[in-house]
Amino acid sequence: MPERLFVCTPSKLGSYVDCPRRYRYSYVDRPTPPKGPPWAHNSLGASVHTALRNWFALPVDKRRPEALPSLLKGTWVREGYRDEVQERAAYRRALEWLESYVETLDPAVEPLGVERVVAVKTAVLAFNGRADRIDSRPGPDGPELAIVDYKTGRTGLDSDDARGSQALALYAYAAERVFRRPCRRVELHHLPSGTVAAHEHTPESLARQVSRAEDTARDIAAAERAVAEGGDPDTAFPTTPGPICTWCDFRKVCPAGAEAPAKEPWATVERVLTPTAADE
Ligand code: SF4
Repeated sequence: MPERLFVCTPSKLGSYVDCPRRYRYSYVDRPTPPKGPPWAHNSLGASVHTALRNWFALPVDKRRPEALPSLLKGTWVREGYRDEVQERAAYRRALEWLESYVETLDPAVEPLGVERVVAVKTAVLAFNGRADRIDSRPGPDGPELAIVDYKTGRTGLDSDDARGSQALALYAYAAERVFRRPCRRVELHHLPSGTVAAHEHTPESLARQVSRAEDTARDIAAAERAVAEGGDPDTAFPTTPGPICTWCDFRKVCPAGAEAPAKEPWATVERVLTPTAADE
């Protein structure tokens, strides 16, 4: 019998690479173990992403900075903040980011896709993922595509981050096949700093990322098979404790997570809002 394709998204693969135990808690154990409280930085990121999606849903003549406050209010996610004072400060900061960001956009240029799902099959994977934005831009031999990913974290990003992102590479690989146009450029748009970190892939570098994703999928399938055949789930999906444990949703149920320092759900947002004081 041919082996079944491994159905995956970038976050599913990334979860296993970060920590096999976290993957198990998220995708294997049922019922899913209880998660910790929602993180304010996730709320902030989701609010900004949805506001930008809705910006592109506006008619071109309505894509003006004055539209942003109601777009952001309409998509605002309230969970995780310390209190209303912090939440209001985060809203104001997010609005500033959006105002600066849309100044860099030509409202008349329509992206090819906004929060667009692209899917592709390889010999091992049935991949699907939702790209923040897919642009069509003029190239030397006709239109070329670029994958755009919005970032709202505290720290800036550089071209190594864009080059190393497996998610961006998989989106590019899939978009090229879905739209039948070259898609080699991947970009991280960091709204807090207004910077763009970009990388131009080659067919070879995209193939390498796909091959790595396939290796991860094989490892996951082997671990799942071991459990299905009666193996110890804790051995098949080991913990990999490290700094990520502090931010892991399963810190409280994971034996290794108990060792990690706890952070309040709003800790990252606090640092985003007062970077200098927090760094002292
Ligand atoms: S707490 Fe750490 S070791 Fe445990 S699942 Fe989360 S990331 Fe993995």
